[in-house]
Amino acid sequence: METLFCKVDPVDPDKKIIEKAGEIIKAGGLVAFPTETVYGLGGDAINPGASEKIYAAKGRPSDNPLIVHIAELDKLEALCKKVPDEMYKLAEVFWPGPLTMIVDKSSLVPKETTGGLDTVAIRMPDHNTALEFIKASGGYIAAPSANTSGRPSPTLASHVRTDLDGRIDMIIDGGEVGIGVESTIVDLSEGEPTILRPGYVTREMLSRVLGRVDIDTTILSGTDKKAPKAPGMKYRHYAPKGSMTLVEGQTAAVVKRINEEVAAAKAKGLKCGVLCTLETEADINADVKKCVGSRNDEAAIARSLYRVLREFDEEGAEVIFSESFKTDGFGQAVMNRLLKAAGYNVEKI
Ligand code: AMP
Ligand code: MG
Repeated sequence: METLFCKVDPVDPDKKIIEKAGEIIKAGGLVAFPTETVYGLGGDAINPGASEKIYAAKGRPSDNPLIVHIAELDKLEALCKKVPDEMYKLAEVFWPGPLTMIVDKSSLVPKETTGGLDTVAIRMPDHNTALEFIKASGGYIAAPSANTSGRPSPTLASHVRTDLDGRIDMIIDGGEVGIGVESTIVDLSEGEPTILRPGYVTREMLSRVLGRVDIDTTILSGTDKKAPKAPGMKYRHYAPKGSMTLVEGQTAAVVKRINEEVAAAKAKGLKCGVLCTLETEADINADVKKCVGSRNDEAAIARSLYRVLREFDEEGAEVIFSESFKTDGFGQAVMNRLLKAAGYNVEKI
């Protein structure tokens, strides 16, 4: 199939393009669109056939549920068996925004969209183009990240094109996304509210609204025997093609160790990539050096992370080393993605 590629002003998208995207969705097709977190691959959430097409286009395992995106709060009643009070409280503070909530689903939501589960994940993105597109499409857009399954999520429309050109009907290019890692997921369907995936909205921010908030212990551990409650979190994700190692410790010692590792890998004839920061860039030796901003600026690191992981692939890095970052606040989301990209391969010094 030929994929339409349309550029828009992300704040004030061309109405004709949005209308066209809405028609594609209503006819059961797929449209990739920008959000504030990463690009999404959208289909009609209440059309089981559209959800099946999303899984096929991405090569996504069919037990990995999709997030339903809405643009209006009054759509909640139709999607949920019962809307919990906590959902309205959190929506008031964080929507539109990078927070996904899991609740018991209504019969309107097909199991094809929820990976066979009786719960549904719902989010209202903070992005004008996304909101206009959702409204033009009937109000319910099922959308995972618009990458081939297992690859880093797309933060630019060109990333979507690389992965999905010819497999979907349309790509709406709204420029670079603002946040760069996927939404925080909080489960409100049973027991205490629990974070299943860390994101820009942190535990501290949620606790200020809800009081106690738990956290799935598998988030920063590769050895926890428990299965993560978000089915998608069990897959090796966000990964570059080269084998990646994180080095953790005092910054000067980390730089020294990375340079030793690079020298050893080069001696074996391997092309080396290093993910570094403004503070370490000048001291690192590598074939492919990628700076993600200051060590102390998690927002900048998050925004660059997936683009840089893809650039390692494009430039043929076979072995990749990265420094580690703080795991509090938004840093937890950044480290969760980096750890997964590295298959939990960490060298502590
Ligand atoms: P993605 O859209 O690619 O960011 O992936 C969506 C994430 O949401 C995956 O990790 C899913 O496992 C998770 N998710 C979606 N719906 C549910 C649900 N009903 N219960 C638990 N996790 C969910
Ligand atoms: Mg994804």
